[in-house]
Amino acid sequence: MRRQRNVKIIATLGPASSDAATIRALFEAGADVFRLNMSHGSHADHRVRHGIIRALEAETGRPIGILADLQGPKLRVGTFADGPVQLVAGQAFRLDLDATPGDLGRVNLPHPEIFAALAPGMNLLLDDGNIRLSVDDNGPDFAQCTVRTGGRLSERKGVNVPDAVLPLSALTPKDRRDLGFALDLGVDWIAVSFVQRPEDVAEVKKVVRGAAGVLAKIEKPQALERLDEIIELADALMVARGDLGVELPLEAVPAIQKRLTRAARAAGKPVVVATQMLESMVHNATPTRAEVSDVATAVYEGADAVMLSAESAAGEHPVEAVAMMNRIAEQIETDPLYRSLIAAQRSEPEPTTADALSAAARQVAETLNAAAILTWTLSGSTSLRAARERPGVPVLALTPLLATARRLALVWGLHCVESADATDFFDMVDRACHIARDQGFAKPGQRVVITAGVPFGTPGATNVLRVAWVEDEKKG
Ligand code: PGA
Ligand code: MN
Repeated sequence: MRRQRNVKIIATLGPASSDAATIRALFEAGADVFRLNMSHGSHADHRVRHGIIRALEAETGRPIGILADLQGPKLRVGTFADGPVQLVAGQAFRLDLDATPGDLGRVNLPHPEIFAALAPGMNLLLDDGNIRLSVDDNGPDFAQCTVRTGGRLSERKGVNVPDAVLPLSALTPKDRRDLGFALDLGVDWIAVSFVQRPEDVAEVKKVVRGAAGVLAKIEKPQALERLDEIIELADALMVARGDLGVELPLEAVPAIQKRLTRAARAAGKPVVVATQMLESMVHNATPTRAEVSDVATAVYEGADAVMLSAESAAGEHPVEAVAMMNRIAEQIETDPLYRSLIAAQRSEPEPTTADALSAAARQVAETLNAAAILTWTLSGSTSLRAARERPGVPVLALTPLLATARRLALVWGLHCVESADATDFFDMVDRACHIARDQGFAKPGQRVVITAGVPFGTPGATNVLRVAWVEDEKKG
């Protein structure tokens, strides 16, 4: 089975999509990667979903990526004595460390670090930015605020502090437990929420130790200030537009999305565009025109993946949402403008053998109108560099490591195939041609372009580019 598009689709699993039949339907409709959201559900729930995905993968023979998304230091207010309160602009409101249920005048915020990081004049955003407070005065255990934008506040709503770098690790005790669980389970990607500094990514990488890729969710303004260093350390990025749109003005988000998709592409690291892409499909069977246009924008930008959250996890039409995304992507990618927009964002190859060969492979394949580019890879890095070129022909990633194939499922354009390592040069070429033909990418008589590293089995040693003819089955 092959997809007829380059951009990948990530579907979050949740109560609406946890049985084997639904997960299979999501995969068949186009999901390439599944997201286990550690903010919701028990470890037992996630373990069942993980098992269903791996069984589906074994049955279909298609490597499927699994991404575990850590909740991160999401701040929340405490409870209220008599239910939700209605805050009005101009009134005073106090946040403090007192765990007693709150009222119209105060509520608990159980985070001393926050009080220490505040200063008069700073903004606090409550309930996804619906309510805004400004700080008048603060001490080690309180913040006395004025309500600037009022609204109804119920218990355990989220709090965002856009104006301060918070002295919080990106890993809470819960995240550490979830991370250990996810690594034991065996996932392909770990997503880190509310990254503020490169050190946050480094801290997670130290625990993960290469067992999974580490994806930095960009959802704090502070992360943008040190973006280059974060990209350098992370294996992938997410434009986490949900919290980004709370921490920054909504109208700032589209330009940030463009900046992030370009920066990630230049670095050759996958980038995911996430949140509210088809939000109205949580309830409706068809999306709005604006949502279709939003998915299309991410595709034109050359994003590696587009993501569904509530649409697939808790919506009424999870499979239709994936099918819709798939249709939009397929349609956009046939637009002649798509190719020219993608080509216009191409970054120059870096002065490495791998990049020189990746650029050459694209050029040779396009000049010869070859059927596909096949990249042999161990770590996945050669295939990532090939994808960075965004070639106009399909790119296959051939690897003896299933873990590499699964991880690369997130990457623009890569069709991943697990295959035993080649024994010699002839076998490497022969095997690649067979795979291209068997997987439906090349017909006998067509040419393919192959990159590999000789001697075999040495990571990071891609140094060969070979053009080969695909032969008939009988002859081959
Ligand atoms: P979340 O992250 O869904 O875990 O909050 C994505 C976002 O903020 O956009
Ligand atoms: Mn978020």
